[in-house]
Amino acid sequence: MAHKFSIRKTKRLRPLLARAYRLGEPPDPRESLVDRVVLAVLWADAAPGKARQAYAKLAEEFVDWNELRVSMTTEAGAVLEACGLPAVKAAALKRILGKAVEDFYCFDFDALSALSREKLRTWFLSIEGLPHGIAASVLYHVFHYDRVLVDAEIARVVRRLGLAAETATEAEVEEGLADVIPAREAQFTYEALRQHALAVCVAKGFDCRPCPLRKECATAPGRIAELEAAAEKARKKKAKPTAKGKAKAKPARQARPKRPAPRAKP
Ligand code: SF4
Repeated sequence: MAHKFSIRKTKRLRPLLARAYRLGEPPDPRESLVDRVVLAVLWADAAPGKARQAYAKLAEEFVDWNELRVSMTTEAGAVLEACGLPAVKAAALKRILGKAVEDFYCFDFDALSALSREKLRTWFLSIEGLPHGIAASVLYHVFHYDRVLVDAEIARVVRRLGLAAETATEAEVEEGLADVIPAREAQFTYEALRQHALAVCVAKGFDCRPCPLRKECATAPGRIAELEAAAEKARKKKAKPTAKGKAKAKPARQARPKRPAPRAKP
């Protein structure tokens, strides 16, 4: 059975996240669902200005989204790179558009709106090679997904915080968060935890001392002690003179005055 998350601890963590992070600007509204899907892909982890510029450029370069779907990935990739976005988004776009045509024979994303939350999540997250962050951007911005999606980065933070067991899988962390995070806070919690995982609670060499969540974190006391012990050791090592340093520091022996040579007898 999945480990139950502490409601109290989550309640204390939510304002800490809210103080440290902000929900990003949503993509510009678009009439058709396919346009919104394209924009949400471009929007993922990008500056809004660059995403807008890339959207306009793609719309100018390709007759329609179907032309982009059947074109070489490098063509759309070059357009994106010229706008400051990673070319990998071109492959992501082609994969989503390709799966829609495979399943519905057209870009009928409205059909997805009718799916249950779980089926909708699976539809996007099972697209081979589609980065989790891009699938999440489409799910939240276009389909208003109301649960916290969890990838390896978010799962790491939640385990370190002590909300989930160290052995909890990503699916178990997602299930646990669904029980304690209200639907209206799901997108914000996802975005805040993701930013936190990428900027502060990174996989290696993380520093808990400036972390805004440290008061509620199960890992923080041990990690801070470990970092301080390492800093102390480094300080001592620096202060202790090395054998070579000692030799250098030793004052040079004063040269004895030379005895005057004995005078020859007259
Ligand atoms: S206190 Fe440390 S382990 Fe805990 S969330 Fe912050 S950086 Fe991660």
